[in-house]
Amino acid sequence: MTFPVNSISLNDDTSIPQLGLGTYRLEDDDAYRVASDALAIGYRHIDTARIYKNETGIGRAIRESGIPRDDLYITTKLWNGDQPKARDAISSSLDRLGLEHVDLYLIHWPAPQRGTYVDAWKQLEVLKQDGLTTSIGVSNFEPEHLDAIAAVSDVVPVLNQVELHPLFQQKALRAEHAKRGIATESWGPLGHGSVDLSTEIPALANLAARYEKTIAQVVLRWHIQEGLIVFPKTSHKDRLAENLSIFDFEISADDMDEIRGFDAGHRVGAAPADGNWD
Ligand code: NAD
Repeated sequence: MTFPVNSISLNDDTSIPQLGLGTYRLEDDDAYRVASDALAIGYRHIDTARIYKNETGIGRAIRESGIPRDDLYITTKLWNGDQPKARDAISSSLDRLGLEHVDLYLIHWPAPQRGTYVDAWKQLEVLKQDGLTTSIGVSNFEPEHLDAIAAVSDVVPVLNQVELHPLFQQKALRAEHAKRGIATESWGPLGHGSVDLSTEIPALANLAARYEKTIAQVVLRWHIQEGLIVFPKTSHKDRLAENLSIFDFEISADDMDEIRGFDAGHRVGAAPADGNWD
């Protein structure tokens, strides 16, 4: 039994389902299968990116689902090497997805060594005005990158998608987001497949037992109660259902504090300044 997914409001008067499907490392055929299964059981928010090489499979799943476009929330991202030509990049993504617009278009990494992300933000403003995307945001931005775009633009990103899980809680960056009206999305919410939260944080097993939930469900519920937006990735049907079934219980204030205490400043993915790949 699943319960409706909460939505949260963004700074451009839109809202986003707080839980979705992550699709990193699922190429077209797998992405088609997993997205189809996810849509069938109630997921309505999918996170993809040009670099994941799965927009075609996801587009096919969306079309075949028969779900009205307005009921879906689709995010894709501008890859580093495409920053100078954002319109071409979003047009190609839309062709692959078979959509006329996405709900959210993100600059995937600031890739500061390339020196093109500030201009890319100005291009995204125009893509939004032209209706190719409803909202625009960023990913893997540090405060200095947010400052750089604020210096040339009055449009504040609706959100910043960053690595975030109990071992790496990004408290300072989240405080910065709160000041600026920027929502936070957690990538790698379960540890990105690079770290096993259940062995790194043995106390999670006690919490899971207390709530009669799995460790993954407790961790995802923690993200939700922190006001974060999450889209765990799995290729297993049973885990898709498990990850969606987190709206029927509440972690107590004391237990939320306990999980906040597990922050170890332990980043498992690339640091923003290092993500300059082609
Ligand atoms: P994740 O934290 O979602 O972890 C995925 C791992 O958790 C997988 O190994 C999976 O097998 C496992 N898992 C999923 N559900 C489980 C369950 N119920 N029980 C036990 N294990 C479970 O990592 P992710 O895929 O890196 O992050 C989620 C999404 O964030 C991605 O798929 C992608 O859409 C996005 N992302 C964005 C960036 C970025 O730079 N913007 C980087 C990485 C990921």
